[in-house]
Amino acid sequence: MTAAASAGGGRAMAKQAKTTAGRTGRRMDKIAAGVVKFQREAFAERRDLFGRLAEGQSPEALFITCSDSRIDPNLLTQTEPGELFICRNAGNIVPPHTNHTGAMTASIEYAVGVLKVPHIIVCGHSGCGAMKGALNPEGLDDFPHVREWLSFARAATLIVKERSGKLSEPARLDALIKENVLLQIAHLRTHPHVAMRLSTGATQIHGWYYDIRSGEVLAFDETANDFIPVAEHYHAPVGAVIHAKKERRRRRP
Ligand SMILES: [Zn+2]
Repeated sequence: MTAAASAGGGRAMAKQAKTTAGRTGRRMDKIAAGVVKFQREAFAERRDLFGRLAEGQSPEALFITCSDSRIDPNLLTQTEPGELFICRNAGNIVPPHTNHTGAMTASIEYAVGVLKVPHIIVCGHSGCGAMKGALNPEGLDDFPHVREWLSFARAATLIVKERSGKLSEPARLDALIKENVLLQIAHLRTHPHVAMRLSTGATQIHGWYYDIRSGEVLAFDETANDFIPVAEHYHAPVGAVIHAKKERRRRRP
């Protein structure tokens, strides 16, 4: 490399660093201001709730989903802090149980064995970048850990390739996202505490698909052998919750 080229490269790097620093500064201002807003408003409104939560947690569900920034599990389910025990990773993957200790294994063991969550939800989502990578692993040469991690979705990838020869690329991706949810549920069943709680019906597993553009959430329905709208799958319970909310509103003075 010539001195001029080196100097040019240095200037480009300095410019890049300055741009990155500027962007980082702006974003942190926004995030830090958000914390102050939380403390003044959201926390202040829920002071009693946080007081109770400071004593311990008893979440309604273990919610396993993708790390994708577009998913907000609490917003999606309209739940409050303390109600969801959330585990996230690229592709909402659950490695099958082995004697190797991993973050997912430990979190599942704790949520199911100690907190005894009654429900486990595995939630995939539309346009999942991790599943795009699983369909096209040749693009992951520079990302060996991502490629290795996505091998936990390989069975789903093969099923979709075998079954969906004529599907368009977007339809194939959608099929994989759903098949992957079912595969990860199968992996969940190999975890000893999950298997134990499932055997008595103390814990139930749910497979979901969230469509980012429409807000639609589908749940896997064993009778239909397909993903169907949440309101349809949970017809009775959803109806009961809505009814109870209306009743409470009606009784309010
Ligand atoms: Zn994703």
